[in-house]
Amino acid sequence: EEPPAAMAVPQAGDPSLVLLSRVGVVDPTSLDDYRAHGGYTALRQAFALGPAGVIREVTDAGLVGRGGAAFPTGRKWQATASQPDHPHYLVCNADESEPGTFKDRVIMEGDPYSLVEAMTVAAYAIGAHKGYLYLRGEYPRALIRLEHAIDQARARGLLGDDILGQGYAFDIEIRRGAGAYICGEETALFNSIEGYRGEPRSKPPFPVEKGLFGKPTAENNVETLVNVLPILTLGAQAYAAIGTGKSTGPKLFCVSGSADRPGIYELPFGATLGELLELAGVRKRLRAVLLGGAAGGFVRPDELDIPLTFEGTRETGTTLGSGVVMAFDDTVPLPRLLLRIAEFFRDESCGQCVPCRVGTVRQEEALHRIVERTGADAADDIALLREVGQAMRDASICGLGQTAWNAVESAIDRLGAYE
Ligand code: NAD
Ligand code: SF4
Repeated sequence: EEPPAAMAVPQAGDPSLVLLSRVGVVDPTSLDDYRAHGGYTALRQAFALGPAGVIREVTDAGLVGRGGAAFPTGRKWQATASQPDHPHYLVCNADESEPGTFKDRVIMEGDPYSLVEAMTVAAYAIGAHKGYLYLRGEYPRALIRLEHAIDQARARGLLGDDILGQGYAFDIEIRRGAGAYICGEETALFNSIEGYRGEPRSKPPFPVEKGLFGKPTAENNVETLVNVLPILTLGAQAYAAIGTGKSTGPKLFCVSGSADRPGIYELPFGATLGELLELAGVRKRLRAVLLGGAAGGFVRPDELDIPLTFEGTRETGTTLGSGVVMAFDDTVPLPRLLLRIAEFFRDESCGQCVPCRVGTVRQEEALHRIVERTGADAADDIALLREVGQAMRDASICGLGQTAWNAVESAIDRLGAYE
């Protein structure tokens, strides 16, 4: 029996889609169907351009990482490609675990060959012959689809020693996560692949210099990688014309919560939050929208005209992150929601550094006290939360601890959560 599918793709079949054009349209188990829908055109184009040409296109297209941090992909690839140390590795981060994020899952389940092709293009660009696909353990359907796609691609000469007769060798190994959120942090992910505890390493050195097995590594999110296909097939200029000047291309948004049509939506960067919520049928009596997931922040109902771009959301002190859009109507008890977020961070902290190990516990305790007293006399605990939150932000090793207080702070300062 097949494991259940990811959430709906309400726009499936819409001819204007770029990233989701094949999801719900192609047979995800058929390489021939993938090719009949434009598959492997980008890889041929990559071979025609050569590695430097691919990196130039990706740079000119303005592609930035879609995992949440928006680092320029062309810069990452160039930095990896130019390292004298070898071998170079490509790692696809498919450990999608941010609460409210399910975009990569939809791609992997609905269009798995696109990821296999995109990883091949990326590896070719950075000079890697081995790629690891680190897949979230809770995605069994994606695993079945990807294993099948990799086997088929190998059998047809699209992976292996001599891809498309071009004399270029590349293969992909899937590694499964085991349920730890922290293993999605890029260096914890390396440790996990290498067989060590999934604990983040200090950066720098950045992975482009010393990554997997201490070798130059480009690690990219699933959505980032599949963007490379339209960049090559449309051309950098046409791709960059989608979206805004600073945030180019299409973006996937994961809408959940108080919505009539929750699911994955593809919109060009620059569409407004209000437009997205309307598509998703977000009900009336909206109280708040969480952007960027548990590490993100809240937007109020009077701010729905903000553009969905990396720079646009920053103005509200939130982040677009990996495209999480969680809508909450006024029936949702905010203090309980914040406590749930705090429990999540306390649970997922790897415990390696004190500010996060202790801070996430103190944060949860304070929020617990506030919930138990149903909001009365919250001032002391809010002061404590601020102090602990600042210490976590300033002194934690990795993004988990540095952002564990973001949503709580945002709810206090922007929503008046305990007033
Ligand atoms: P980061 O800003 O430290 O790094 C982003 C990327 O750029 C990394 O690959 C890093 O190696 C690279 N980089 C940064 N500076 C560099 C330099 N000078 N030279 C070369 N490479 C450089 O962010 P991060 O900690 O990797 O990621 C944080 C983000 O992860 C958050 O924005 C959050 O939204 C997101 N996140 C996503 C999920 C998910 O499920 N998709 C889960 C948790 C967190
Ligand atoms: Fe681990 Fe938290 Fe420190 Fe990150 S910040 S290394 S998750 S203890």
